[in-house]
Amino acid sequence: MKPADYYDIVIVGGGLAGASLARALAGGLARVAVIEPHPPGDPGQPGFDDRALALAFGTARILNNLGVWSRLGEERCAIETIHVSEQGRLGFTRLRAGEEGVEALGYVVPARALGQALLHRIDRLAGIDWLSPARLRAFETHATHVRLEIQHGDAARTLETSLLVGADGGDSFIRKQLALPTRRAAYRQHAIVCNLLTSQPHRHIAYERFTGNGPMALLPMSGEHRHALVWSVNDALRDELARQGNDAFAAAAQAAFGLRAGRFQQVGERTVYPLEMLRALRSTAPRAVLIGNAAHTLHPIAGQGFNLGIRDVAVLADLLSDTLAAGGDPGDATLLDRYEAWRHRDQKWVARATDSLVRLFDTPFPPLRAARGLGLTLLDNCPPAKHWLARGAMGLAGRLPRLALKEAAHE
Ligand SMILES: Cc1cc2nc3c(=O)[nH]c(=O)nc-3n(C[C@H](O)[C@H](O)[C@H](O)COP(=O)(O)OP(=O)(O)OC[C@H]3O[C@@H](n4cnc5c(N)ncnc54)[C@H](O)[C@@H]3O)c2cc1C
Repeated sequence: MKPADYYDIVIVGGGLAGASLARALAGGLARVAVIEPHPPGDPGQPGFDDRALALAFGTARILNNLGVWSRLGEERCAIETIHVSEQGRLGFTRLRAGEEGVEALGYVVPARALGQALLHRIDRLAGIDWLSPARLRAFETHATHVRLEIQHGDAARTLETSLLVGADGGDSFIRKQLALPTRRAAYRQHAIVCNLLTSQPHRHIAYERFTGNGPMALLPMSGEHRHALVWSVNDALRDELARQGNDAFAAAAQAAFGLRAGRFQQVGERTVYPLEMLRALRSTAPRAVLIGNAAHTLHPIAGQGFNLGIRDVAVLADLLSDTLAAGGDPGDATLLDRYEAWRHRDQKWVARATDSLVRLFDTPFPPLRAARGLGLTLLDNCPPAKHWLARGAMGLAGRLPRLALKEAAHE
């Protein structure tokens, strides 16, 4: 006989990854608990702040199949062109939605709006117990279950589960307790993120510009002239920019970015994020699995963090729904091995590619600098290479889980 506080699956962390998985598992096949310190709607939830997320085409499909996409309404802004260039070099490359036969390569959405859409009535979904404010304090793995000690409001509670899902972010308590090996890189860079208006309409172009003062992404947002700026700078420049008012900051950003998108005007509030790369070399352990930033935290240079995390969600949901429908054990070692085999390559490849991009454009070594400009020009003139790159950027490369397929039906 199972104890009263037994759940088939416990998801620790109700950020973008944990909330997406909860939605994917809702429906009653499994009893699922989500443990999260911030109650739905809490403005202090750090994962649902004002940062703009570039979501790949494949991510939009998954969110659509989770019933979340339409709730984003006017907050979504389509990316029809991606323009990549380097300051002081002639080479550039463009990826265009029309060349890929799609209406958008991806979309830009504020994280806050996505969080609200994911959490909409989540505590009323069949099979989901949303426990918050709650925090995981300790856990022990046994052959048949995991035993968790949680703080839920004022009460200490004990839960048991067949599968523990660590969606507890980059500083994951679960990853550390499981002592899963990791690869890390400290970049000594911070991302400065803000919204701004430009004198020209954005025409749905997302810019990635590599500058002597760090990479900049200028993302189109809803509203013809509204953009999100993500500027990754070294620590010295961060300190200098922090001392500047909005006009001086706009002038510094404009000098680095150039005039391609028009004049920068009305810079909004700036938020600063420390940057590092961290990847768990294994994301499973007996009766446990890591998803999202708990498994991989990336530099935002290519906007791949959540796009990678939601593919973890879609694959895990795929494997779990088959197992649960057949009456199987969600913490079964074979299921976890299949998850690891399916996700390992994508996680490794995207983390490596992101890290290489940071390093390639951070080098002052002249031959490499020259090769970069040449590389962008060659790429722009090589349709098969561009197509391959676009499929990767759209999140459509490799074997796709059901939630990423166009016609996936999800209740
Ligand atoms: C500047 C910037 C720009 C970005 N741009 C993009 C982009 O354009 N595209 C993109 O795809 N990605 C982007 N990302 C990455 C994206 O924001 C993250 O990948 C994503 O938000 C991670 O979500 P998560 O749910 O995995 O982790 P988190 O948001 O960190 O959520 C973890 C959750 O776990 C909870 N938690 C922690 N410890 C415990 C505990 N002990 N018990 C219970 N709960 C706990 C926390 O409260 C939190 O809610 C960007 C990131 C940054 C910093």
